[in-house]
Amino acid sequence: MAYDPQNIFARILRGEIPCTKVYEDDAVLAFRDIRPQAATHVLVIPKGPYTDFQDFAEKAGDAEIAGYIRGVARVAREAGVVESGYRLISNCGADAHQEVPHLHFHLFGGEPLGPLLARKGS
Ligand code: 5GP
Repeated sequence: MAYDPQNIFARILRGEIPCTKVYEDDAVLAFRDIRPQAATHVLVIPKGPYTDFQDFAEKAGDAEIAGYIRGVARVAREAGVVESGYRLISNCGADAHQEVPHLHFHLFGGEPLGPLLARKGS
């Protein structure tokens, strides 16, 4: 899938749509999810145009990958969830119900989190 520069996170990156920013550096922008699903629910996105984790891992340069991963850890630290624990989820593609086609990690924490996945019928 080609990267769509009009996706909502690209527009947030360009400052065309507001967000509640919690952290920014050269590699990443982090902001609060508009529909939080935990006490702490932050989205961490790389600044480059990557549709999802697979696209990023296959195409980004090593410095970009390092900057993103370190940025995610920095956001967790600044959100105060490193001691209590947190969960990272990156939805990739249709079966994962990815809604926004710009790579993002959901960072959840701030309270005990439920089971990893709710399976149909369980
Ligand atoms: P996905 O399903 O792609 O992994 O998750 C996309 C996330 O982006 C959802 O949790 C949704 O609530 C969030 N989201 C969608 N539009 C906006 C927006 O305009 N601003 C913010 N802050 N979050 C958004």
